[in-house]
Amino acid sequence: MLTRRALMSVAAMLPMSLGGLALAAAQPAAGALDVARLKEGYRLRIQRILAGGVMPYVDIESSCNAGKLDLDDLAKAMDDCQIGLMALSADIGQGAFERGVRYEDLNTRLLQHYPDRFIPVGNGGQGPALMEATEAFEAGEEKAIADGSVLLLGEYEFRHYPSPRQAKRGDLDRDVNVPLDGPIGHWLFALSERTGMAFQIHYEVEDTLLPVIEKMLTQYPRARVIWCHLAQVRYIERAASYSATYVESLIRRFPHLMFDTAFGDATSRYPLSQQLHARIWGDGGGLKPEWLDLIVAHPDRFLSALDLGGDRLNRIHEYDAKHRLFLRCLPGDVQHQVAYRNAWRLLFNEEFA
Ligand SMILES: [Zn+2]
Repeated sequence: MLTRRALMSVAAMLPMSLGGLALAAAQPAAGALDVARLKEGYRLRIQRILAGGVMPYVDIESSCNAGKLDLDDLAKAMDDCQIGLMALSADIGQGAFERGVRYEDLNTRLLQHYPDRFIPVGNGGQGPALMEATEAFEAGEEKAIADGSVLLLGEYEFRHYPSPRQAKRGDLDRDVNVPLDGPIGHWLFALSERTGMAFQIHYEVEDTLLPVIEKMLTQYPRARVIWCHLAQVRYIERAASYSATYVESLIRRFPHLMFDTAFGDATSRYPLSQQLHARIWGDGGGLKPEWLDLIVAHPDRFLSALDLGGDRLNRIHEYDAKHRLFLRCLPGDVQHQVAYRNAWRLLFNEEFA
């Protein structure tokens, strides 16, 4: 009989769907997910919302401060808005970091209370933990995968300008620049290849950064990358080479690359450049034809997302309304794919049925 250590080393060589989950079934680790049961709860919730004539969607990218989360409040808001599922990650903030936290287990609490709607995610990949305690942070994420307690990783901030809310507060410290092709990037892409685990990145669009992501996608062709915030460009003068045509060229070259659709509405301006940073919107309130055509031509590569964060969970109704406005710009069958079918395939390697 194989020891657990031997099983782990076998599992490490296999994609997650074949290795990690099979291992969890053979010899569950403490905290291992019962994926079949979770899936059943998720499926029933999505089907119930569909039966009510509303489009359910999977928010693939939101985050929070676990210590400040009012879980019942959020769960109620999800019901009010008829949101299907939410991938809610915990960010290890400065306070938790100073208390020595290197892995924040929010998932146990989420799934204990609301197992039918939260997708267990690793911690947000950001400072201070990611940059100042890199090895311990990475070890925490790797253990969560090995234990079979997460289905997704992220969001990792590689290039991140101050957020609009931080800019308005004059809080400009978070001008993050972690090289995507540095040690953390190589660790993350290799981890995804090894385990089959998808991960989210925040990577501002700049001409000089695009060859770097192409290089990493080429070097790690089986890495499952979700590039968050499709068509969000904060400084157009830095991003002359980015367009729907460029994104399509990536889609054609990199079969495991996906994009989430968390972006501002047609009137949203990035405070530091004063530019309308959600480049997907046309003048009349609909999508620009080239972006609509891109999504329709490749409907399996785009994912619903709200990008709620610790400082804006209370704005979920507003974010939900804006996201639904975007979904309604898409043809009916494409709406179903972007809203929940693509997320289902990404998480479970099967079609939603
Ligand atoms: Zn982001």
